[in-house]
Amino acid sequence: MNLGLQDRIVIVTGGSKGIGEAIVRTFMAEGAKVVNVNRSTAEGEAMQAEFAAEGQQCLFMQGDLCEPETAQRVVDYTLKKFGQIDVIVNNAGVNDGVGLESGLDAFNASLQRNLLHVYAMVHHGLDALKKSRGAVVNIGSKVAVTGQGNTSGYAASKGAINGLTREWAVDLAPFGIRVNSVIPAEVWTPLYANWLGSLPNPEATRKAIEQLVPLEHRFTTAQELADMVVFLASQRSLHTTGQIVYVDGGYTHLDRKCTAS
Ligand code: NAP
Repeated sequence: MNLGLQDRIVIVTGGSKGIGEAIVRTFMAEGAKVVNVNRSTAEGEAMQAEFAAEGQQCLFMQGDLCEPETAQRVVDYTLKKFGQIDVIVNNAGVNDGVGLESGLDAFNASLQRNLLHVYAMVHHGLDALKKSRGAVVNIGSKVAVTGQGNTSGYAASKGAINGLTREWAVDLAPFGIRVNSVIPAEVWTPLYANWLGSLPNPEATRKAIEQLVPLEHRFTTAQELADMVVFLASQRSLHTTGQIVYVDGGYTHLDRKCTAS
């Protein structure tokens, strides 16, 4: 299937690790040109060099999306380098455990980590997206609909991202811009592995989590997430908008009976 992504210009936030890295690499495999904005530098710079050696452009821009000017900076940088923006993937985020007892300042900071830059990226990229009749893909979380406990900031942010996906799909339909979200539940990433490693009994905890996933009792891979993101951004899903797509092995919606041991 030709996804029609050759030479399309794609911005991925947080594209240096985990799900974001898989998204970047999958767009690159389809012949797109990517701008990856990420806080840490090493992986992004290495990826840029790796692709440059093959004559491909996977440009890295260092930036912390919690700083309000970063979104404008990445849009300006992309337009300066490529003159257009076809796709924005809002991937950066972190389940930061800011609960009800953490207080308003911590809650605000969590919204900055997980929500405000999603709005800022699309706001600043809007004129370019209108010109390209582009696409936005947001990365949400199951927590938006299930709750998790002790993570108010993250749950509020991901819930808002679901809301904005539908809101923007309506706003932007007249311009031919599509807006969709992909929802992970349990995806094996370096961050997840680190977190598990910090627990007293990581292997048993991993097995217990895997048991809860109806389809094949395993974690979703970052590649499986990336494949859906790239498809939704592609010319093969031109009549799909406002959708919230769960790539989670059935974790969020299937009957609990199917995972009861
Ligand atoms: P990850 O492994 O921690 O990767 C996130 C990447 O985003 C890192 O490279 C990180 O940079 C970058 N980043 C985070 N905040 C940033 C900021 N403020 N400015 C710039 N870069 C930033 O995380 P992941 O597991 O792949 O998660 C990706 C997305 O999926 C997130 O939105 C997350 O909420 C969502 N999600 C993941 C899971 C899961 O099971 N993994 C489940 C549900 C939802 P640094 O290198 O500087 O840290």
